[in-house]
Amino acid sequence: MEKTVGVLGGGQLGRMLVEAANLLDIRVNFLDAAGSSAKQVSNHDGHVEGSFKDAESIRKLAAKSDVVTVEIEHVDTKILEEIADKVDVQPSWKTIRTIQDKYLQKEHLQKHGVATAQSLPLAEPTIAELEKASASLGLPLMLKSRREAYDGRGNFPVKSKDDFKAALEALGGNKDLYAEKWANFKIELAVMVVKTKDQVLSFPTVETIHENSICKLTYAPARGVSSAVNKKAQALARDAVGCFWGKGVFGVEMFLLEGDQLLINEIAPRPHNSGHYTIEACPVSQYEAHLRAILDLPLHAEDLQLREPSIMLNILGGDSPDSHLQFAREAIKQRRTKIHLYGKGAARKGRKMGHITVCAPTMSEAESIMQPMIDYVDKDKP
Ligand code: ATP
Ligand code: MG
Ligand code: MG
Repeated sequence: MEKTVGVLGGGQLGRMLVEAANLLDIRVNFLDAAGSSAKQVSNHDGHVEGSFKDAESIRKLAAKSDVVTVEIEHVDTKILEEIADKVDVQPSWKTIRTIQDKYLQKEHLQKHGVATAQSLPLAEPTIAELEKASASLGLPLMLKSRREAYDGRGNFPVKSKDDFKAALEALGGNKDLYAEKWANFKIELAVMVVKTKDQVLSFPTVETIHENSICKLTYAPARGVSSAVNKKAQALARDAVGCFWGKGVFGVEMFLLEGDQLLINEIAPRPHNSGHYTIEACPVSQYEAHLRAILDLPLHAEDLQLREPSIMLNILGGDSPDSHLQFAREAIKQRRTKIHLYGKGAARKGRKMGHITVCAPTMSEAESIMQPMIDYVDKDKP
């Protein structure tokens, strides 16, 4: 394929993106530190060494690429706006700018009639502002950083007024905070949506299980969800992505409340953890779909359908530097188990080091294969 893609960030999402790109002989240049997860599996001289936060490095990447995209939304969108004169930036910098501030993201969705958890910005990070927010939203509430949040870092559940001080301290005096009404969800759902030049397509609705605000497991399809709720989730996810600009894959996280009401939790303008299962479970993965969307290559709705029920389990760093390798040595003994290790070196506690995916003819078979692996990761839980 003749076009070259430039990516801001070269972590595990970039690594899986380049695995898909290699099959199509699409060249992908990464901007990240030498030896990053993505660069390890992509050997050519087009990469840029540096930080995806550095303006000069972004300009260098743009000069070598036909289309620039991101594997992380926490980037400088002023530079993206500047380079968009010369290079195709996908999705649009406007989309990334709106989404990277979770409060602006929610405002944008509400303006377009998309249901989200009710949110209020704090004018400053003070107890008085938290008093105001809790008077309006009730308690508990979730206090969140507007920017730079991931894997729950940036969230603090505020159960009562006694937590106000601890919440402000935990979020480090961050000036850009907002409060979100507590979602008493039955389960969490996620849909990967693909926005092409003329279509908005979606992958199946998956159930996600988070522990300590970090994604732990995904089940595709979502278990115990009626076809009516599934249809609603699909439509909501497509509506949510439809009101942004540009092309690419988006991860849409949702809460399913009592009474089957659905609310958007948040959107990621890039491949997403809740879409890893698509590598094994769908004819076209979220990574390939992203490439096809940003490069205007053909994409068929039926290629996003589930071939077999599938469960994904994240491998998080444990207490020892090789905890993820110990886990992989257990997992490789299981049938139908695909292991992905991200090449990040020594584990740090809670860091995403890899994942495993099990596909099977039925969900109950996939569950019984996965159960010993869940028991393994849970064995040290208090
Ligand atoms: P990600 O790694 O997905 O980007 P994040 O740091 O942006 O995570 P959120 O998606 O805002 O964090 O929240 C992480 C998890 O915390 C959610 O999946 C959910 O389990 C819980 N959570 C977030 N907001 C609320 C809420 N308003 N009410 C109840 N639980 C919530
Ligand atoms: Mg997030
Ligand atoms: Mg999230």
